[in-house]
Amino acid sequence: MHPSPSIVVARAAPDPLQSRLALVTVITPAAGVVAAIVLAWGRGIGPVELGILIGMCALGVLGVEVGFHRHFSHRAFQAHPAVRVVLAVLGSMAAQGPVLFWAATHRRHHAFSDRPGDPHTPHDGGEGFLALLRGLWHAHVGWLFQGDVTDLGAYAPDLLRDRLVFRLNQLYFLWLLMGLVVPAALGGLLTRSWKGCLLGFLWGGLVRTFVVHHATWSVNSLCHVFGSRPFDTPDRSTNLVWLVPTSLGGSWHNNHHAFPSTASNSFRWWQIDPSGWVIRSLQAAGLAWDVRVPAQPSQRERGARSANGDQPEEAGSR
Ligand SMILES: [Zn+2]
Ligand SMILES: [Zn+2]
Repeated sequence: MHPSPSIVVARAAPDPLQSRLALVTVITPAAGVVAAIVLAWGRGIGPVELGILIGMCALGVLGVEVGFHRHFSHRAFQAHPAVRVVLAVLGSMAAQGPVLFWAATHRRHHAFSDRPGDPHTPHDGGEGFLALLRGLWHAHVGWLFQGDVTDLGAYAPDLLRDRLVFRLNQLYFLWLLMGLVVPAALGGLLTRSWKGCLLGFLWGGLVRTFVVHHATWSVNSLCHVFGSRPFDTPDRSTNLVWLVPTSLGGSWHNNHHAFPSTASNSFRWWQIDPSGWVIRSLQAAGLAWDVRVPAQPSQRERGARSANGDQPEEAGSR
Protein backbone atom coordinates (compact mmCIF):
# COMPACT_ATOMS: atom_id res chain seq x y z
CA MET A 1 0.00 0.00 0.00
CA HIS A 2 1.29 3.44 -0.88
CA PRO A 3 2.20 5.24 2.36
CA SER A 4 0.12 8.36 3.02
CA PRO A 5 2.27 11.39 3.86
CA SER A 6 0.78 13.93 6.25
CA ILE A 7 -1.10 16.80 4.63
CA VAL A 8 0.63 20.15 5.22
CA VAL A 9 -1.48 23.26 4.68
CA ALA A 10 -0.81 26.97 5.19
CA ARG A 11 -4.50 27.69 5.96
CA ALA A 12 -7.29 25.23 6.74
CA ALA A 13 -9.84 27.42 4.91
CA PRO A 14 -9.68 29.29 1.59
CA ASP A 15 -7.83 32.61 1.70
CA PRO A 16 -10.55 35.25 0.98
CA LEU A 17 -8.14 37.43 -1.04
CA GLN A 18 -6.95 34.42 -3.05
CA SER A 19 -10.57 33.37 -3.69
CA ARG A 20 -11.48 36.87 -4.93
CA LEU A 21 -8.40 36.93 -7.17
CA ALA A 22 -9.29 33.49 -8.51
CA LEU A 23 -12.83 34.70 -9.25
CA VAL A 24 -11.51 37.69 -11.23
CA THR A 25 -9.05 35.55 -13.20
CA VAL A 26 -11.78 33.01 -14.05
CA ILE A 27 -14.60 35.44 -14.86
CA THR A 28 -12.66 38.14 -16.78
CA PRO A 29 -11.43 35.87 -19.61
CA ALA A 30 -14.92 34.36 -19.93
CA ALA A 31 -16.37 37.88 -20.25
CA GLY A 32 -13.70 38.59 -22.87
CA VAL A 33 -14.82 35.56 -24.88
CA VAL A 34 -18.40 36.87 -24.90
CA ALA A 35 -17.23 40.35 -25.98
CA ALA A 36 -14.98 38.90 -28.72
CA ILE A 37 -17.84 36.77 -30.09
CA VAL A 38 -20.23 39.73 -30.08
CA LEU A 39 -17.71 41.90 -31.97
CA ALA A 40 -16.93 39.08 -34.45
CA TRP A 41 -20.62 38.38 -35.09
CA GLY A 42 -21.33 38.65 -38.83
CA ARG A 43 -17.75 39.53 -39.79
CA GLY A 44 -15.72 36.61 -38.39
CA ILE A 45 -12.24 36.69 -36.95
CA GLY A 46 -9.47 38.30 -39.03
CA PRO A 47 -6.09 36.71 -39.81
CA VAL A 48 -4.21 39.05 -37.44
CA GLU A 49 -6.44 38.22 -34.46
CA LEU A 50 -6.37 34.51 -35.33
CA GLY A 51 -2.57 34.51 -35.64
CA ILE A 52 -2.12 36.35 -32.33
CA LEU A 53 -4.60 33.99 -30.62
CA ILE A 54 -2.94 30.78 -31.86
CA GLY A 55 0.61 32.04 -31.23
CA MET A 56 -0.19 33.28 -27.73
CA CYS A 57 -2.09 30.06 -26.90
CA ALA A 58 0.89 27.92 -27.95
CA LEU A 59 3.32 30.05 -25.92
CA GLY A 60 0.97 30.00 -22.92
CA VAL A 61 0.50 26.23 -22.90
CA LEU A 62 4.26 25.70 -23.35
CA GLY A 63 4.96 28.13 -20.50
CA VAL A 64 2.70 26.06 -18.25
CA GLU A 65 3.56 22.54 -19.47
CA VAL A 66 7.30 22.88 -20.22
CA GLY A 67 8.00 25.59 -17.62
CA PHE A 68 5.68 25.46 -14.60
CA HIS A 69 5.04 21.72 -14.88
CA ARG A 70 8.04 19.79 -16.21
CA HIS A 71 10.85 22.18 -15.22
CA PHE A 72 9.78 23.98 -12.03
CA SER A 73 7.43 21.38 -10.48
CA HIS A 74 9.21 18.16 -11.48
CA ARG A 75 12.78 19.25 -12.29
CA ALA A 76 12.63 17.06 -15.40
CA PHE A 77 15.47 19.08 -16.93
CA GLN A 78 17.88 21.85 -16.02
CA ALA A 79 18.00 24.99 -18.14
CA HIS A 80 19.93 28.20 -18.81
CA PRO A 81 18.72 31.09 -16.60
CA ALA A 82 17.41 32.96 -19.67
CA VAL A 83 15.27 29.94 -20.58
CA ARG A 84 14.00 29.70 -17.00
CA VAL A 85 13.02 33.38 -17.08
CA VAL A 86 11.18 33.01 -20.40
CA LEU A 87 9.36 29.87 -19.21
CA ALA A 88 8.38 31.44 -15.88
CA VAL A 89 7.13 34.61 -17.59
CA LEU A 90 5.13 32.68 -20.21
CA GLY A 91 3.65 30.43 -17.51
CA SER A 92 2.75 33.44 -15.35
CA MET A 93 1.06 35.14 -18.32
CA ALA A 94 -1.36 32.16 -18.38
CA ALA A 95 -2.96 33.58 -15.19
CA GLN A 96 -3.01 30.32 -13.24
CA GLY A 97 -1.24 31.79 -10.22
CA PRO A 98 2.45 32.52 -9.57
CA VAL A 99 5.03 29.79 -10.15
CA LEU A 100 5.49 28.93 -6.43
CA PHE A 101 1.74 28.47 -5.91
CA TRP A 102 1.42 26.42 -9.11
CA ALA A 103 4.36 24.12 -8.39
CA ALA A 104 3.51 23.57 -4.70
CA THR A 105 -0.13 22.76 -5.52
CA HIS A 106 0.92 20.42 -8.30
CA ARG A 107 3.49 18.57 -6.19
CA ARG A 108 0.78 18.09 -3.58
CA HIS A 109 -1.48 16.68 -6.32
CA HIS A 110 1.20 14.05 -7.01
CA ALA A 111 1.79 13.34 -3.31
CA PHE A 112 -1.92 12.57 -2.70
CA SER A 113 -3.25 11.77 -6.19
CA ASP A 114 -6.98 10.94 -5.95
CA ARG A 115 -6.74 10.46 -2.19
CA PRO A 116 -7.59 12.78 0.74
CA GLY A 117 -5.20 15.73 0.49
CA ASP A 118 -5.24 15.98 -3.32
CA PRO A 119 -6.22 19.62 -3.99
CA HIS A 120 -8.09 18.82 -7.21
CA THR A 121 -9.16 15.22 -7.53
CA PRO A 122 -12.51 14.61 -9.27
CA HIS A 123 -13.03 11.51 -7.09
CA ASP A 124 -13.81 12.75 -3.57
CA GLY A 125 -17.56 13.22 -3.96
CA GLY A 126 -18.88 9.64 -3.86
CA GLU A 127 -20.38 7.46 -6.59
CA GLY A 128 -23.04 8.16 -9.24
CA PHE A 129 -23.49 10.50 -12.19
CA LEU A 130 -24.18 13.66 -10.15
CA ALA A 131 -21.18 12.98 -7.91
CA LEU A 132 -19.06 12.57 -11.05
CA LEU A 133 -20.28 15.93 -12.42
CA ARG A 134 -19.59 17.61 -9.07
CA GLY A 135 -16.15 15.99 -9.00
CA LEU A 136 -15.32 17.13 -12.53
CA TRP A 137 -16.39 20.69 -11.66
CA HIS A 138 -14.27 20.64 -8.48
CA ALA A 139 -11.19 19.26 -10.30
CA HIS A 140 -11.60 21.69 -13.20
CA VAL A 141 -12.15 25.01 -11.48
CA GLY A 142 -14.10 24.63 -8.20
CA TRP A 143 -10.97 23.73 -6.21
CA LEU A 144 -9.68 27.29 -6.71
CA PHE A 145 -12.46 28.53 -4.41
CA GLN A 146 -12.68 25.70 -1.89
CA GLY A 147 -10.52 23.81 0.55
CA ASP A 148 -7.29 24.73 2.23
CA VAL A 149 -4.23 26.63 1.06
CA THR A 150 -1.15 24.58 0.16
CA ASP A 151 1.97 25.33 2.22
CA LEU A 152 4.71 26.62 -0.09
CA GLY A 153 7.50 25.82 2.38
CA ALA A 154 6.39 22.19 2.64
CA TYR A 155 6.00 21.49 -1.07
CA ALA A 156 8.38 23.89 -2.81
CA PRO A 157 11.28 24.64 -0.41
CA ASP A 158 13.81 24.33 -3.26
CA LEU A 159 11.95 26.92 -5.34
CA LEU A 160 11.54 29.25 -2.35
CA ARG A 161 15.33 29.17 -1.90
CA ASP A 162 15.92 29.79 -5.63
CA ARG A 163 16.46 33.56 -5.82
CA LEU A 164 15.62 33.77 -9.53
CA VAL A 165 12.35 31.88 -9.10
CA PHE A 166 11.44 33.87 -5.99
CA ARG A 167 11.98 37.17 -7.82
CA LEU A 168 9.98 36.03 -10.86
CA ASN A 169 7.24 34.91 -8.48
CA GLN A 170 7.13 38.36 -6.83
CA LEU A 171 6.65 40.02 -10.23
CA TYR A 172 3.63 37.85 -11.10
CA PHE A 173 1.24 40.77 -11.67
CA LEU A 174 3.70 42.43 -14.03
CA TRP A 175 3.77 39.26 -16.16
CA LEU A 176 -0.04 39.11 -16.06
CA LEU A 177 -0.22 42.67 -17.34
CA MET A 178 2.33 41.87 -20.03
CA GLY A 179 0.09 39.03 -21.21
CA LEU A 180 -2.58 41.65 -21.99
CA VAL A 181 -0.39 44.50 -23.24
CA VAL A 182 1.75 42.46 -25.68
CA PRO A 183 -1.16 41.12 -27.82
CA ALA A 184 -2.84 44.55 -27.75
CA ALA A 185 0.37 46.19 -28.98
CA LEU A 186 0.84 43.50 -31.62
CA GLY A 187 -2.72 43.93 -32.88
CA GLY A 188 -2.31 47.71 -33.02
CA LEU A 189 1.08 47.61 -34.77
CA LEU A 190 0.11 44.96 -37.32
CA THR A 191 -3.11 46.75 -38.34
CA ARG A 192 -1.95 50.31 -37.52
CA SER A 193 -5.28 50.96 -35.81
CA TRP A 194 -6.82 51.31 -32.34
CA LYS A 195 -9.45 48.79 -33.37
CA GLY A 196 -6.66 46.27 -34.05
CA CYS A 197 -5.26 47.10 -30.62
CA LEU A 198 -8.62 46.33 -28.97
CA LEU A 199 -9.08 43.11 -30.95
CA GLY A 200 -5.50 42.03 -30.11
CA PHE A 201 -6.26 42.61 -26.43
CA LEU A 202 -9.51 40.63 -26.65
CA TRP A 203 -8.32 37.66 -28.75
CA GLY A 204 -4.65 37.44 -27.70
CA GLY A 205 -5.25 38.57 -24.11
CA LEU A 206 -8.62 37.46 -22.75
CA VAL A 207 -9.72 34.71 -25.19
CA ARG A 208 -6.20 33.24 -25.11
CA THR A 209 -6.25 33.20 -21.27
CA PHE A 210 -9.64 31.44 -21.37
CA VAL A 211 -8.36 28.77 -23.80
CA VAL A 212 -5.12 28.14 -21.88
CA HIS A 213 -7.00 28.01 -18.55
CA HIS A 214 -9.36 25.32 -19.74
CA ALA A 215 -6.64 23.42 -21.64
CA THR A 216 -4.67 23.07 -18.39
CA TRP A 217 -7.67 22.47 -16.14
CA SER A 218 -9.04 19.79 -18.49
CA VAL A 219 -5.96 17.72 -17.69
CA ASN A 220 -6.77 18.03 -13.96
CA SER A 221 -10.41 17.05 -14.48
CA LEU A 222 -10.88 14.90 -17.62
CA CYS A 223 -7.48 13.16 -17.40
CA HIS A 224 -8.43 11.61 -14.05
CA VAL A 225 -11.78 10.26 -15.36
CA PHE A 226 -11.84 9.49 -19.11
CA GLY A 227 -9.31 7.73 -21.34
CA SER A 228 -6.88 4.82 -21.20
CA ARG A 229 -4.65 3.64 -18.35
CA PRO A 230 -1.67 1.77 -19.80
CA PHE A 231 0.12 2.04 -16.43
CA ASP A 232 -1.36 0.61 -13.25
CA THR A 233 -0.66 3.70 -11.13
CA PRO A 234 -2.17 4.00 -7.60
CA ASP A 235 -4.22 7.02 -8.78
CA ARG A 236 -6.90 7.21 -11.50
CA SER A 237 -4.93 9.22 -14.07
CA THR A 238 -5.61 8.59 -17.77
CA ASN A 239 -4.17 9.26 -21.22
CA LEU A 240 -6.63 11.32 -23.27
CA VAL A 241 -5.56 11.53 -26.90
CA TRP A 242 -8.03 14.19 -28.06
CA LEU A 243 -6.67 16.67 -25.52
CA VAL A 244 -3.14 16.40 -26.98
CA PRO A 245 -3.59 19.36 -29.41
CA THR A 246 -4.67 21.76 -26.64
CA SER A 247 -2.39 20.40 -23.87
CA LEU A 248 0.62 20.02 -26.23
CA GLY A 249 1.35 16.58 -24.76
CA GLY A 250 0.22 17.16 -21.18
CA SER A 251 -2.78 14.87 -21.61
CA TRP A 252 -0.59 11.73 -21.70
CA HIS A 253 -1.35 12.07 -18.02
CA ASN A 254 -1.26 8.40 -17.02
CA ASN A 255 2.22 8.19 -18.58
CA HIS A 256 3.12 11.26 -16.55
CA HIS A 257 1.81 9.88 -13.24
CA ALA A 258 3.74 6.65 -13.86
CA PHE A 259 6.94 8.64 -14.50
CA PRO A 260 6.40 12.12 -12.96
CA SER A 261 9.96 13.36 -13.43
CA THR A 262 10.30 12.59 -17.12
CA ALA A 263 10.87 15.38 -19.66
CA SER A 264 8.92 13.51 -22.37
CA ASN A 265 5.43 12.05 -22.00
CA SER A 266 5.77 10.04 -25.21
CA PHE A 267 6.52 6.35 -24.68
CA ARG A 268 5.20 5.14 -28.06
CA TRP A 269 6.04 6.48 -31.51
CA TRP A 270 2.45 7.64 -32.03
CA GLN A 271 2.22 9.52 -28.72
CA ILE A 272 2.77 13.08 -29.96
CA ASP A 273 4.33 15.28 -27.31
CA PRO A 274 5.19 18.79 -28.61
CA SER A 275 6.28 19.91 -25.11
CA GLY A 276 8.86 17.11 -25.10
CA TRP A 277 10.03 18.23 -28.56
CA VAL A 278 10.61 21.76 -27.22
CA ILE A 279 12.75 20.37 -24.37
CA ARG A 280 14.74 18.24 -26.82
CA SER A 281 15.26 21.29 -29.05
CA LEU A 282 16.50 23.32 -26.08
CA GLN A 283 18.85 20.45 -25.25
CA ALA A 284 20.13 20.32 -28.82
CA ALA A 285 20.80 24.07 -28.65
CA GLY A 286 22.77 23.63 -25.42
CA LEU A 287 20.14 25.55 -23.41
CA ALA A 288 18.84 22.53 -21.44
CA TRP A 289 20.65 19.60 -19.86
CA ASP A 290 20.11 16.75 -17.38
CA VAL A 291 17.02 15.88 -19.42
CA ARG A 292 15.40 12.98 -17.56
CA VAL A 293 13.77 10.11 -19.44
CA PRO A 294 12.84 6.67 -18.06
CA ALA A 295 14.48 3.51 -19.41
CA GLN A 296 12.15 1.47 -21.65
CA PRO A 297 8.88 2.79 -20.16
CA SER A 298 6.65 0.91 -22.64
CA GLN A 299 7.92 -2.38 -21.18
CA ARG A 300 6.37 -1.36 -17.87
CA GLU A 301 2.85 -0.98 -19.27
CA ARG A 302 0.21 -3.25 -17.83
CA GLY A 303 0.24 -5.82 -20.62
CA ALA A 304 4.02 -5.94 -20.70
CA ARG A 305 4.31 -6.09 -16.92
CA SER A 306 2.70 -9.52 -16.65
CA ALA A 307 5.10 -10.76 -19.30
CA ASN A 308 8.30 -9.68 -17.54
CA GLY A 309 7.16 -9.16 -13.95
CA ASP A 310 8.36 -5.54 -13.97
CA GLN A 311 6.57 -2.95 -11.85
CA PRO A 312 5.72 0.62 -12.91
CA GLU A 313 7.50 3.41 -11.12
CA GLU A 314 5.42 4.55 -8.20
CA ALA A 315 3.40 7.70 -8.78
CA GLY A 316 3.89 10.36 -6.16
CA SER A 317 7.62 10.74 -6.47
CA ARG A 318 8.65 14.17 -7.69
ZN1 LIG B 1 -2.90 14.21 -12.25
ZN1 LIG C 1 2.96 16.54 -12.74
